[in-house]
Amino acid sequence: MTTSSQDTLVPFYKPAALEEGPSGSVADYVLHEMARRIVDGEYRPGQRLVEAELTQDLGVSRSSVREALRRLEINRFVRIEPNRGATVATPNRDEIVAQFRIREVLCGLGARAAAERVHLPGNKAIMQSLLDEIEVQRALGSEKNHRRDNGRFHRAINEMSGIAEIGELLDQSNFPILHTIYFRDLSHAHWERNMSDHLDIARAVFNGDPVAAEHFAKQHMHRMVDIAVAIATQLQQESRTTAVARRSQSRRKSAPDASA
Ligand SMILES: [Zn+2]
Repeated sequence: MTTSSQDTLVPFYKPAALEEGPSGSVADYVLHEMARRIVDGEYRPGQRLVEAELTQDLGVSRSSVREALRRLEINRFVRIEPNRGATVATPNRDEIVAQFRIREVLCGLGARAAAERVHLPGNKAIMQSLLDEIEVQRALGSEKNHRRDNGRFHRAINEMSGIAEIGELLDQSNFPILHTIYFRDLSHAHWERNMSDHLDIARAVFNGDPVAAEHFAKQHMHRMVDIAVAIATQLQQESRTTAVARRSQSRRKSAPDASA
């Protein structure tokens, strides 16, 4: 699969892409608005996204909606199936485990390569500021901004690796809805664990120790697997609830006089 940079929309790895907002074109507005609604949970996991309803709701043309759905599918926000149309993507357990195994390797590689390049001009200073930031976050003692801070941390390390494909592959294998739930339900204890992992990774990169950097980064991602599987189970349940609600709604619609 090939994706142009225009197609890449990534709230976890690059939260800024959503925060920056659309470029001004209608297609971009529709894309960002729909992505935001999925990320914010306004469209539930498994919910059907009906073109005609979206067209009316967003006040745009059908082709803009169709184009946005296509781009959202590339970014794994939605799933498009021949007889069902578009639904909000609900990854299953196997897909999620696969995603985190991929992340483990990619983030391990990113940290390893960053440690190998930390001696290049400016990189030590970047790592020092990441270490300082972790201390600030720990002193604040709150997980409130973790989604943003976490994205920034991993992005900085992966950019230092000099391997652009790492970011691209992370984007391609990402299920945005998973991360929404992950950050929404993050416990304080788990946030503290993440902070301590980040410190280990950052110190290893700063010290130019590729083996340690890779080890800590992989371990950090591996810890996410159980949590991600729990989220998958929850998503499947939510998706079933959405399906049940949809069925009873369509029954009411098709039999309006049933109670009369
Ligand atoms: Zn992290």
